[in-house]
Amino acid sequence: MQRHRADWIWTPGGPQRGGEIVMDSRGRIAELRVNALDEADASSHSGMLLPGFVNAHAHLELSDLRQQVIGGHGLSSWAMALLARRRPPQDEAIRTAIDEAYEAGTAAIVDTTNSGAPLPLLADSPMRALGQIELIGIEPERCEAAHSQAARLLLAPGIPAVETCHAVVSCSADLIAEVLQPTGLPGPARTFHCDEDPEDGRLLREQSGSWADFLDRLGRQWRGRIGQAQSTVALLDELGVLGPHLGLVHCVHTGEADLDRIARSGSVVVLCPRSNLHIGGRLPDVPAMIARGIPLAIGTDSLASAPDMDLLAEAATLAARFPTVAPAVWIEALTIGGSRLLVEGPKTRATALARGSLYPGAEHGLVLVSIPRTEDPASTLLDGTRWPRRWLSPPVGAA
Ligand SMILES: [Zn+2]
Repeated sequence: MQRHRADWIWTPGGPQRGGEIVMDSRGRIAELRVNALDEADASSHSGMLLPGFVNAHAHLELSDLRQQVIGGHGLSSWAMALLARRRPPQDEAIRTAIDEAYEAGTAAIVDTTNSGAPLPLLADSPMRALGQIELIGIEPERCEAAHSQAARLLLAPGIPAVETCHAVVSCSADLIAEVLQPTGLPGPARTFHCDEDPEDGRLLREQSGSWADFLDRLGRQWRGRIGQAQSTVALLDELGVLGPHLGLVHCVHTGEADLDRIARSGSVVVLCPRSNLHIGGRLPDVPAMIARGIPLAIGTDSLASAPDMDLLAEAATLAARFPTVAPAVWIEALTIGGSRLLVEGPKTRATALARGSLYPGAEHGLVLVSIPRTEDPASTLLDGTRWPRRWLSPPVGAA
C-alpha cells in the first residue's frame, strides 16, 4: 500500500482540498480519503493529484514529421503536403513521442495506424494502448487489400487493436458500413475522422470540391463508391454505424442537426484542438456539444499537425478558447472521456469512471502536477503553463 496526500486531489466530483489517495500493491486506487489531514505516514506533495490522462487520438507513425507539414490552408492541401513528405515510419521518432506522452502524464493512448509500426513499441511502453488499424479503400480491390493488411496487423503480438476506417473521403460507403457496424459484443471503441474540413460534407452532398479534385489527382475511381448524403454524420446515421462504440474525431464542421444525431447515438466526440487550429484555423462548436450532453475526449492528433504530445496543453487550448466552460469539463474529457473508448461493454460514465479517475478500482495511476497554492486549482491547471508533473504510481500493467 502507498499513501499520497496533496494540496488538491482531483475526484470525479471536482477538486478536493487535502485528502489522501491509497494505492494497492498492484497500482490500483484502493481508497480515496477526503478528510485525512491528521494521518501521519503518507507522502505529502504540493500541487494536484490526478489520474493519468487518456490521449484519445494520436498517429504515432507520423512522429518524424513534427512541425514539418505547413497548415492553414485546409485539410486537402495539408494532406497533399503530408503525402509528399511521408516516408516509412521511423521507430526512433515514435519512441521519442511515446516517452514524451508518458512524461506529460498520459496513462493510455488510442493510436491510429496504417503501418502497424507503433504497436510493438507501445507494447514495450509504460502506457496502456489501444490500436486503431485504419483502413483506406474506395475501389473493391483496394478495400480487400486493406482488409488483408489489417488482418495481418491484428494477428501480430503487441497491444489490443481493432479495425476502423479513415474518413468518408477515403473509404467507400460499403467499407464504412462493413467495418464500423456495431457488433453487439463488448469491446473497445473504433475512432473515425469526422468533419475535420468543410469539404468533407461538400464531397458527399455535391460529389465535387477539393476532395473530388484530390481523389481525381490520385487516380481513384471514387464516383458511385464514396457515400452520397447531406453530411458526414447523416451518412453514418444512414449506414447505421453511429453509437457508443464509435468515437468521432474532430467534428469541427458538424452542424446542429448532426450534433443532435450524435447526442442521440451516444457516440463520443474526440477533440484535437491544436491540430484543428494548425490545419484549418478553426475549432468545433464545443459549447453546443456540451449543451447536448455529448461525451467528450481529447487527443493530440499527429505531430505533423500538433507541436508535442502534451494532452494538458490541448485542454488548456480549449479552456482559453471557451472561457465560459467550467474547467472541470476539460479535466473530465482528459481522463474519464478517453476511458470511454477503452472500456469493454456499455460505455457509460460509470464504467469509464472505474478505469480513468481517482476512484476505487481505477487503473490509470497517479500523477502529481505541481501547480502553486491556489483557491482555484482547476483554472490554474489549465492556464496554459507547462506545469511540472511526475508519476507517483504508474498505470496498472505498465512495463
Ligand atoms: Zn487523425
